[in-house]
Amino acid sequence: MTIRGLHHVTAFTESLDRNLAFYRDLLGLRLVKQTVAADDPYAHHLYYGNGTGAPGTIVTFSPWSDRDETDQRATGEVTAVGFVVPPQSHGYWVDRLGAHGVETARRERFGQPVLSFTDPDGLSVDLVAVDGGDEPWTGGSVPTTEAVRGLFGVTVAVEDPETTARFVEDSLGYALDGTDDGRLRYRSVGRVGAVLDVVRREASGPAPVGPGQVHHVAFRVGSAAEQAELGEAISALGTNVSPVVDRQYFRSLYFREPGGCAFELATDDPGFAVDEDPADLGRELMLPAWLEDRREDVEAHLSPFPVERGTADAD
Ligand code: ZN
Repeated sequence: MTIRGLHHVTAFTESLDRNLAFYRDLLGLRLVKQTVAADDPYAHHLYYGNGTGAPGTIVTFSPWSDRDETDQRATGEVTAVGFVVPPQSHGYWVDRLGAHGVETARRERFGQPVLSFTDPDGLSVDLVAVDGGDEPWTGGSVPTTEAVRGLFGVTVAVEDPETTARFVEDSLGYALDGTDDGRLRYRSVGRVGAVLDVVRREASGPAPVGPGQVHHVAFRVGSAAEQAELGEAISALGTNVSPVVDRQYFRSLYFREPGGCAFELATDDPGFAVDEDPADLGRELMLPAWLEDRREDVEAHLSPFPVERGTADAD
């Protein structure tokens, strides 16, 4: 039983407008779901991914809300989100991002070319030019030959990398892949989102919470049974593990790794086509069944959404 790479990464944004312009229009991801935050029906929750919203291609954003208390104890944090882009595509991305005023830096890590920049909220994004990844979204504004192919991995920064490293090895089945300039690279068996980099961060108090911050990272589990088994194993180590919660598009349980980063185990099922036709993903505001009765109230409280309903995929 082991993790099959990342399922999704969830972060906060100050402006859904700018967030949509960046992740959909500039990076070329598909907006696969418009819904509301699990703990706040009056706040949007946007999911981006490839054409089907496959696990391992997903990033999600909610507007920053100071009502969330769960991160106040955090010490570790996810400092960068990496996506796979095709080899030789960095020239295209430097031009495209530069034309939109996004400054990029090229570097090499573990012998792989990495293009780094920040999103409008200050979240660090890496485009790693390597073979592999998942199918790209072909209906977006980026040519298929250059398009993002799902998540590459994340970078977590913690005070004590060795402790976090041991946890991801022993509990999540990651294996050390190498070290580069103090960065420990761990790898899972997933085809996409398999990489977890651990770096040291000097003790500086709790991680900040707000726009540009990652709230949590979700890992793929093969089945609900595997999820339960893994949750029990982690709980047996003395880690607090949440009950399984229904997140509409997957089932989740949550815990913190020893360095303080919030982790989630998420199932592939039922996926984003559970309440929308695959061709129409992201076009309409979808609500969980228990909120449908309150749709009018919910819609009245949501801040105006930046896309016209029904044109979510338009450029
Ligand atoms: Zn999540």
